[in-house]
Amino acid sequence: MPVLVVGSIALDTVKTPIAEHADLLGGSASYAAVGASFFTPVNLVGVVGDDFPKAHIDYFGSRQIDLAGLQVVPGKTFRWSGEYMWDLNTRETRSVELNVFEHFNPTLPDHYKATPYLLLANIGPNLQNHVLDQMTRPRFIIADTMDLWINIALDELLRLLKRVDMLILNDGEARQLTKETSLIRAGARIRAMGPKYVVIKKGEHGSLLFGDGQFFSCGAYPLEDIHDPTGAGDTFAGGLAGYLAAHDASIPLAAQPTSASGPVDIPWNTLCKAVVQGSVLASYNVEAFSLERLRSLTEEDIRTRYEVFRTMSHFEQLA
Ligand code: AMP
Repeated sequence: MPVLVVGSIALDTVKTPIAEHADLLGGSASYAAVGASFFTPVNLVGVVGDDFPKAHIDYFGSRQIDLAGLQVVPGKTFRWSGEYMWDLNTRETRSVELNVFEHFNPTLPDHYKATPYLLLANIGPNLQNHVLDQMTRPRFIIADTMDLWINIALDELLRLLKRVDMLILNDGEARQLTKETSLIRAGARIRAMGPKYVVIKKGEHGSLLFGDGQFFSCGAYPLEDIHDPTGAGDTFAGGLAGYLAAHDASIPLAAQPTSASGPVDIPWNTLCKAVVQGSVLASYNVEAFSLERLRSLTEEDIRTRYEVFRTMSHFEQLA
């Protein structure tokens, strides 16, 4: 089943302690859509200016990404610039130029409106709500967010949380949103705000999945060389959403919605596997700048690393 992905499409300038590259393909929707496309077809919604290289659009088109929802408008593409410190974890935003993003009004083509899986990648919660308003209730709705929206658009974000099935955010954001120091408490508090499932990402320390009385902790792949952490979270969300959509057929009949459109009850083990697949894709993505590593990634690579994750988290029963 396809996934609709909406978010930012950007030209990024990224500086790490060892290299700096300008005008790279970036944006939450770019990473998320390409991530999801490893598992399932994607309907992309976003905006770029007339300066956006055609080669990037061709790249999206070369994946199973439908571009009917991509607006190309006069003006400059959204630009973001960030600098990483020595730990490659701490990041400072150096500049943000909204450009064509400032007047972005995500309008869904008719054939997108009943897309069964929805990933609201990181953009303002007002835009995320606006996309949701145009859709028939998807079978599963995932939202991503960031500290900025918790700071400046909290009411709109809280309205969104009541409408989604899963929220993905990082540890700092979870603490910021709930004022809890414990991530376990934070996960429960966020679930009480609406989403049935919450994923808290902990960067190089893995991620936590919270459900109703259910909990899963996924490790992180022990990478020696991280070149550019940008987009790890977005790739994670895309891989997770794509895997869920691709495995919709495995949802038992009893867990199907009673009405034609309505949320599905995804089996817990499928959700856990989706979190691992998201982690696998994110771990590859940070091996190179921009989306470069994803360009050469194969199904075989994904399978190989999935097995490493499985081996890493397995241990024997006590005798
Ligand atoms: P992440 O590393 O997962 O935080 O995502 C980085 C990506 O988010 C970059 O490619 C940026 O272009 C994009 N980005 C940065 N700030 C924003 C924002 N305010 N809204 C949407 N996307 C953003």
